[in-house]
Amino acid sequence: MSENEKEEQKPAGPPQDLKDMADLVSLCKRRGFVFPSSEVYGGINACWDYGPLGIELKRNVKERWWRAMVDREDVEGLDAAILMHPKVWEASGHVAGFVDPLVDCKKCKSRFRADKIDAEAMKSKKCPECGGELTEPRQFNLMFRTFMGPLEDAASVVYLRPETAQGIYVNFLNVQQSTRKKVPFGIAQIGKAFRNEITPGNFIFRTREFEQMEMQFFVKPGTDVEWFERWKQTRIEWHLANGIRKNKLRFHEHGAGELAHYAKAAFDIEYEFPFGWQELEGIHNRTDFDLGRHQQFSGKKLEYFDEEHRERYLPYIVETSAGCDRTLLVALADAYRFDGERVWLALHPHLAPYKVAVYPLMKKPELKEYTETVYADLKKNFRVTTDEAGSIGKRYRRQDEIGTPFGVTIDYDTLSNHTVTVRHRDSMAQERVSTDKLSGYIQDKIHNWEK
Ligand code: ATP
Repeated sequence: MSENEKEEQKPAGPPQDLKDMADLVSLCKRRGFVFPSSEVYGGINACWDYGPLGIELKRNVKERWWRAMVDREDVEGLDAAILMHPKVWEASGHVAGFVDPLVDCKKCKSRFRADKIDAEAMKSKKCPECGGELTEPRQFNLMFRTFMGPLEDAASVVYLRPETAQGIYVNFLNVQQSTRKKVPFGIAQIGKAFRNEITPGNFIFRTREFEQMEMQFFVKPGTDVEWFERWKQTRIEWHLANGIRKNKLRFHEHGAGELAHYAKAAFDIEYEFPFGWQELEGIHNRTDFDLGRHQQFSGKKLEYFDEEHRERYLPYIVETSAGCDRTLLVALADAYRFDGERVWLALHPHLAPYKVAVYPLMKKPELKEYTETVYADLKKNFRVTTDEAGSIGKRYRRQDEIGTPFGVTIDYDTLSNHTVTVRHRDSMAQERVSTDKLSGYIQDKIHNWEK
């Protein structure tokens, strides 16, 4: 073992969690996870671009969600258009009711959502920022409007969808009839949604353009309460399986005042961010509200016919609605660790952009050649990267910061005995493993991964 490797085994102190979002924002920019959108023009408020590592992480999040939701006998996938018939949004209640109460400070011009500021501040009409006078709340519709075709008149108004769910409801019978699915079954979709949020912020937590991962499960009325419970459990377990720490997740039940117009029951899965407990995913019992409204507004029957019992009914819907960007933010925020000197992302290997980094201990041709062979071999099974710049300690640190769980170092002993050093990101422990067992060894560690 080289001096560098010995040195690197000592943690500087106990691991600390992320305390300040600014540390994560700067890591994400520095290492290519997330960049401010249109940065050369000074950025555009609340829009973000995913860089090379961010997109890998995002794809991993989506792939895990898709496989968990759609690789079941009772769920099918869908990809509906972002632009929909404008009547959809009348039926859904969004034209009339997708509004947030907006208040402005007359003095400092800050803008707030009246429902998100302190009750005291609202009562006294005092700005929480500067104490200035607040305006009366005004209702502000969050949907982005645009025009379809060359005429910019009222008849050509269309909306950028504020949720993916409606594309699922209006396709309920298309999917049911084409797949010959029987109720209970679900339809899952991942896609962009747009909301003209009054107070976006906290990095990618609340943005104006984001991706949702939604699943609508159609059930026979009367079985909805049981399915609701099942989906609550299934969804929280999914977040745990992504390695999110249990004590950072909780359910929050919507009280009578909080319930949306369509919901019979609603629970949020919340995560404890550095800025407090916040919603990550919503699980809603939407009753037959959605299908009922689309049936009413379209004039088309959307009932399900149960052939076995010869009965027709409008199914109830249990919805699970997660933000993809928010899930990614949770993964990063939960994984961020600092020991006083070293920063690392303790990402679950399934989410990590790279699973393995392979390095020659020194820039010597014989070590580089061996490294290339190991690299090519590992690449058959994993996303691998390599790095030969700087001391081995520095290279480990660079991979720690992007959450690569395993480092593999090729040194002079490798040439004689065909063993390599495997270095573990979280513990910094090192082991010698023979090259012919390396792939299996890593596979095994990922499979049996524990926090
Ligand atoms: P809030 O009341 O905080 O605005 P919501 O209750 O309207 O949010 P839902 O409509 O239930 O949110 O959306 C489902 C999920 O979509 C949320 O749990 C969140 O993960 C994600 N989401 C909603 N709005 C945004 C946004 N502006 N930016 C990023 N993700 C969002």
